[in-house]
Amino acid sequence: MNIHEYQAKALLKGYGAPVAEGVAILKAEEAEAAAKSLPGPLYVVKSQIHAGGRGKGKFKELSPEAKGGVRLAKSIEDVVANVKEMLGNTLVTAQTGEAGKQVNRLYIEDGADIERELYCSLLVDRSVGKVAFVVSTEGGMDIEAVAHDTPEKIQTIAIDPEAGVTAADVANISAALKLDGAAGKDAESLFPLLYKAFNEKDMSLLEINPLIVMKNGHLRVLDAKMSFDGNALFRHDDVRALRDETEEDAKEIEASKWDLAYVALDGNIGCMVNGAGLAMATMDIIKLYGKEPANFCDVGGGAGKEKVAAAFKIITADPKVEGILVNIFGGIMKCDVIAEGVIAAVKEVGLKVPLVVRLEGTNVELGKKILNESGLAITAADDLDDAAKKIVAAING
Ligand code: GDP
Ligand code: MG
Repeated sequence: MNIHEYQAKALLKGYGAPVAEGVAILKAEEAEAAAKSLPGPLYVVKSQIHAGGRGKGKFKELSPEAKGGVRLAKSIEDVVANVKEMLGNTLVTAQTGEAGKQVNRLYIEDGADIERELYCSLLVDRSVGKVAFVVSTEGGMDIEAVAHDTPEKIQTIAIDPEAGVTAADVANISAALKLDGAAGKDAESLFPLLYKAFNEKDMSLLEINPLIVMKNGHLRVLDAKMSFDGNALFRHDDVRALRDETEEDAKEIEASKWDLAYVALDGNIGCMVNGAGLAMATMDIIKLYGKEPANFCDVGGGAGKEKVAAAFKIITADPKVEGILVNIFGGIMKCDVIAEGVIAAVKEVGLKVPLVVRLEGTNVELGKKILNESGLAITAADDLDDAAKKIVAAING
C-alpha cells in the first residue's frame, strides 16, 4: 500500500525527521489560508498523487509550455494562482501512464533554498536479507538516468538487523553522500530514525528523492515516497487509515477485502487460479499461446464458495476480459467447492465471455459433474495445455 507525500512526511516528522511545514488542501478556497500559515517568502505547490515524476509531469488540460506538477511560488497570490491552475486537472508523468492521474489534493509547503539534491532510499535488499540504504549524491529528478548511465554513482549500505544503524553505518552513508558540517551532524540522527520508522511501520520502500542540503547547511527531506508491506497492515491501524482508495485500482481494493492475491494486468484473458506458482505457470502458458493475461489472481488454498464467487466477479467486471480461464488444483481446496463457486458467480453476474475450466485433484469427478450438469456454457479442459489452447481458440473465434 502506498500513501501520499504529505502523509509520509507527517509520519517521518513524528520520528523527528527534518521536513518543511506544509498544509494539504482539497479545495482552491483553502489555498490562501494555507499559504498564510507558512513562513514564506518561498512556497511550493505539490500535486499529491500516488506516482512520481511530478516535477517533470505535464497537465493534460494545460498547454505543453505550462509548468509541471511541482511548482515554486514567490507570493501568496502566486500560490493561489497555481492552485487554481492545477487542482482537478490530470497530471501525466513518466510513472502514471498516458491516462495520467487526476490531482484532487495539493500540498502547499514552505520552500527551501537548495544547495545540493541527494538520493536516499531504504528497501529490503533480498540479495543480502537485510534492510539497506541506497544513496547517491546525484539525487533529484534525473535519478533514473543516473541509475541507467552511471550506476557506480549509487551506493548500497546494508544494515545488520542485530546492531541497527551503527555510528560506522552513518559514517559510511555520510561519506557516500559527501555530508559534513551541519549536514553531517543532522545525518547522525536522520539515518537511524529513517531505519527505525522503516522497521516499526513495516515499510517495503522509503524513498527520499531528493534529500537536500540547504543553503544554510542543514538537511531536509524534500520528497518522500512510502510503500508498506500489505501483509503487515493488520498491525498498523494508523497506516491503514492513510489509505486513499481513489488512487488504487478498484478491482484490487475489492480483492483485498476478500484477501485475494489479485494484480490487474493489461491482457484480455482473465485467470482464476489457486497457488501463486500455478498462477505464474498459467500466465506463462497463455503467453506461450500468443495471448496476454488480464490479471494475476490467486484464490489461495482454503477458499470457500463465496471467495471463489467474489474472485470470479472481480475478473468479469474487467471490461478488457474477453475470456476466462479457471485453473485449479484441488489439494486443500476441493474441486466441487470451486465448481459451486463458479456456478454461483455465473448465475449472479451472467457469463458474457467464453469460460474454460480445468480442474484437477480432490473431488475432481464431482466437480466436473457439477459443472456439466449446471447447464452453463462452460468448456471443460483435461490439462493445463489443453485449457490454454481452448481459451485462446475461443477468443480468436
Ligand atoms: P517529483 O518530481 O514527483 O519527484 O517531486 P519532488 O518533490 O521531488 O520535486 C521535484 C523537484 O522540485 C525537486 O527535485 C526540486 O528540484 C524541486 N523542488 C521541490 N521542492 C522545492 C523547494 O522547496 N525549493 C526548491 N528550490 N525546489 C524545490
Ligand atoms: Mg522526487
